[in-house]
Amino acid sequence: MTAPNVLNADLHCHSTASDGTLSPAELVRRAHGAGVELLALTDHDEVSGIAEARAEAERLGLPFVAGVEISVSWLDQTLHVVGLGIDPENPALLEGLRQVREGRDGRAALIAAELERIGIRGALEGALRYAGNPSLISRAHFARYLVEVGVARNVHDVFNNYLARGKPGYVEHVWATLEDALGWIHGAGGIAVLAHPGRYRISNSEMDRLFERFRELGGAGVEVACGAHDAGQVLAFARLARKFGLLASRASDYHGPEDCVIELGKAPLLPPDLTPVWTRLMPVSSC
Ligand code: AMP
Ligand code: MN
Ligand code: MN
Ligand code: MN
Repeated sequence: MTAPNVLNADLHCHSTASDGTLSPAELVRRAHGAGVELLALTDHDEVSGIAEARAEAERLGLPFVAGVEISVSWLDQTLHVVGLGIDPENPALLEGLRQVREGRDGRAALIAAELERIGIRGALEGALRYAGNPSLISRAHFARYLVEVGVARNVHDVFNNYLARGKPGYVEHVWATLEDALGWIHGAGGIAVLAHPGRYRISNSEMDRLFERFRELGGAGVEVACGAHDAGQVLAFARLARKFGLLASRASDYHGPEDCVIELGKAPLLPPDLTPVWTRLMPVSSC
């Protein structure tokens, strides 16, 4: 029996159902090969990859959790909330996610128009060629097209120069509310985890406010060890998890071998005193 905090759990990654580059089955095979012991697929605003991923995970005997990463607007920020252990057929969740995806379509047209203004043509069609799921268009798909046409060397530079807030191809957008996102996750029987808080550009007092509100709404956990966090941030968010009584998650946020910040299953281990979110997702005897 593996002690809970050293289980190689990876509870956040993406497939071609959103902006990952591996199909759900390929992703599961790669996770299995990398030694992952518990995997959640968490595509952006989309659950259509789950059936394929679950079938492959069952074939390989890899414990699997159905998940989703919901885009949320809070104050003037975009936040991501991961839902784990959801029923991917829950009607209210599906309808909520459909609306969020629809919002992405309008935003994509505006992003393409902004890029056209600075002389980059055909970006919508170009991004759609990279989208494995035409109903889920992400800035990551635009980024791949912008690398293809040679305006930047890599996806990282594209975000720095074109697609991040304040840059010419950025478009402000209103996503789901925090209340709605947590409501959909809970209604679908899942638990809500605040994704990569180290990426949010907010003050310490706003971060406290966010954790407090997240907790009030029934949020259960926070990504402490994840691809986006350096060692100092792991410690800082471990402290906030303790302060607000949240469970801790471990997450690569893997998008594929090309855009890889860290490999599947390679996030740091959780500090030993924190309670992992997977204690709520797996039978006690297996973790
Ligand atoms: P969206 O949800 O469409 O706004 O796109 C957000 C996605 O873009 C994230 O999930 C990442 O896949 C990608 N992304 C955002 N910022 C960066 C960055 N600085 N470098 C590389 N990819 C990024
Ligand atoms: Mn992404
Ligand atoms: Mn995210
Ligand atoms: Mn993600």
